[in-house]
Amino acid sequence: MRFLNKVVVVTAAANGIGRASAERLRDEGAKVWALDRDGDALNAIDGVERVLVDLTNAAEVAALPDRIGAIDTLCNIAGYVAAGDILAGSEADWALSFDLNVHASYHMIRAFLPGMLDKGGGAIVNMSSIASSVKGIPNRCAYGASKGAVIGLTKAVAADFVGRGIRCNCICPGTVETPSLRQRVVDQAAAQGVAVADADAAFVARQPMGRLGRAEEIAALVAYLASDEAGFTTGAVHVIDGGWVN
Ligand code: NAD
Repeated sequence: MRFLNKVVVVTAAANGIGRASAERLRDEGAKVWALDRDGDALNAIDGVERVLVDLTNAAEVAALPDRIGAIDTLCNIAGYVAAGDILAGSEADWALSFDLNVHASYHMIRAFLPGMLDKGGGAIVNMSSIASSVKGIPNRCAYGASKGAVIGLTKAVAADFVGRGIRCNCICPGTVETPSLRQRVVDQAAAQGVAVADADAAFVARQPMGRLGRAEEIAALVAYLASDEAGFTTGAVHVIDGGWVN
């Protein structure tokens, strides 16, 4: 029970890594505010406070602390995976990648950091990816550029507030089995004109462990970085990828 009496906000909490993280933190005693725009999926999670929000709407994000109050931990999990190289990817996808993957976390931190500082400290966990400054991945131009910015944002916040009780870390997963990954497998199969099973096998083949990650495995790292056990860790990039970049 590492999170008794702790108040936690988790974005993208309705599905995948966000949901696994919200449930893990809840099970460890936290009061969890679960944020997502998918109301039906959000309603399926028990034992959390549910907030319907479009994280790309800066005004909606800025209003959140009035409803939620001061928190101890902020988990910025929301992200969008755009396909395409710099020529094939659309400008709309480039903009949405930065709106959700970078600007939403920027606005969330600006909204909740003052309350964390008033409380005397707290932890921020941002979700980056192996596709970032860690590694160039084909067909992921906008995604990789935006996830690189997440690493820069993480390090900047960590450096600025290290003396005021704030820790800020980010996580770079390899390929993880989630609803959106399932859709990417189907899309990739269609784009390449191959069977879904073959596209699936190509995603698995990138992982030397021979399997995809599980959302619960990423959630365990989220919970560790959010907890006091990680008290000596800030500004760090935590790779969890089945050995992909090793
Ligand atoms: P997912 O697609 O399964 O779930 C994403 C959730 O975000 C959904 O519930 C969706 O409703 C919500 N969401 C999307 N746009 C929103 C918005 N504008 N406002 C509010 N909610 C919104 O995602 P996932 O695969 O679990 O990925 C979670 C994070 O992990 C993302 O940042 C992703 O880039 C990162 N990541 C995932 C993988 C992977 O293989 N799954 C790998 C590396 C990094």
